[in-house]
Amino acid sequence: MSERTNSSSLKLFQRAQELIPGGVNSPVRAFKAVGGNPVFMKSAKGAFLYDEDDNEYIDLINSWGPMILGHACEMVQEAVKEVLPHSFSYGAPTRREVEMAELIISMVPSIEKVRMVNSGTEATMSAIRVARGFTGRDKIIKFEGCYHGHGDSFLISAGSGAVTLGVPDSPGVTKGVAQDTITIPYNNLEAVKQAVEAAPGQIAAIIIEPVVGNMGLVVPVAGFLEGLREICTKENIVLIFDEVMTGFRLAKGGAQERFGVMPDMTTLGKIIGGGFPVGAYGGRKDIMDAVAPAGPVYQAGTLSGNPVAMAAGLTMLRYLNEHDEVYAYLENISDKLVHGMRENLDKLGLNYTINQVGSMFSIFFTRQPVTDFDSAKKSDLKLFGQYFNHMLQRGIYLAPSQFETLFISTAITDELADKYLKANFESLQAIKNS
Ligand code: PMP
Repeated sequence: MSERTNSSSLKLFQRAQELIPGGVNSPVRAFKAVGGNPVFMKSAKGAFLYDEDDNEYIDLINSWGPMILGHACEMVQEAVKEVLPHSFSYGAPTRREVEMAELIISMVPSIEKVRMVNSGTEATMSAIRVARGFTGRDKIIKFEGCYHGHGDSFLISAGSGAVTLGVPDSPGVTKGVAQDTITIPYNNLEAVKQAVEAAPGQIAAIIIEPVVGNMGLVVPVAGFLEGLREICTKENIVLIFDEVMTGFRLAKGGAQERFGVMPDMTTLGKIIGGGFPVGAYGGRKDIMDAVAPAGPVYQAGTLSGNPVAMAAGLTMLRYLNEHDEVYAYLENISDKLVHGMRENLDKLGLNYTINQVGSMFSIFFTRQPVTDFDSAKKSDLKLFGQYFNHMLQRGIYLAPSQFETLFISTAITDELADKYLKANFESLQAIKNS
């Protein structure tokens, strides 16, 4: 293994730190939790990223999910090129928005009407406003370690970059807002029941990542999602599945299809834009008809339904809709990676925890099962940092935090999976011997 140089990335990061808070436009990109400086990317194709110093990496993040078919996919490029001569934004309705709505509604089982926005954060902020407007109630329930974007109401016991940087309860969120968010340990149905009983008729929505990606990968225990569905139906609470990560990934219809539990509303992002900035929220007709201009709950966006983003997203979603083999391939190759990692751990006499659902997985440096935020936080973060850097040196680009999941793309071939597993073995061995 030859030592990689990163002088160009380093210079850019020094400049960036003078100009951009922390030198990055989204905190999860910083390498604060793992030590070292972030790598600045210049180009990517298929499974590979290339940085400013021309180092090559196998990408296991895929822009945090959207590049499910690998980077710079030709058919998405073609779709975007087709749009460009006809203007990039009209601020008026277009055909592609109707086609996008039809496609989402046909793919995601519980969605009857849908509104496009520009990010996952916009989707979740809008969804809870609608749930509040629809029910006339103020409070929401969220789960510790779940991340739903950076809206004020969600920065209470938040996962992802918020916990990575030690600010799960961000300054700047008012006490008033915080009072309306009730947080509960993930997978604890009893605690949900108690919270609902303690605030009768006051809970507008329960929002959840049906499979969590933002405290590392955490799986819902059998009966948990079903139990939430039951409580919400009984108490007229709007059940919101935040499928920004899981949508179009864990199945064509997301986690709701995979687990067979239907929410009242769903938030989407990432894959839906094929790499362009897109989010969406949708759900039951009666709830969505509360949204302006059909109803009184206001939500708007100058660039919402942007033609370039719609063309990219439509192309991606149509392909996924018509190619079941994509999901079969992602399951197989991800199973191979996870199985191989477990074999590596066995060979080295280590028994760290690996959680997986389909093409999302993560390793925790703890021997205990990880089922919620408290157990996720038992992971040895120092070991994670060492592991991350050993993998990076071997040309494997992982999420630079324990509290994130990995996302596999169809560009990961058998051969690349073997390379990944070799690097995984060597990196685990190196930290064992350190
Ligand atoms: N919800 C979930 C489950 C997410 O993982 C994220 C971002 N990773 C968001 C919402 C926010 O999406 P965005 O970063 O596009 O605002």
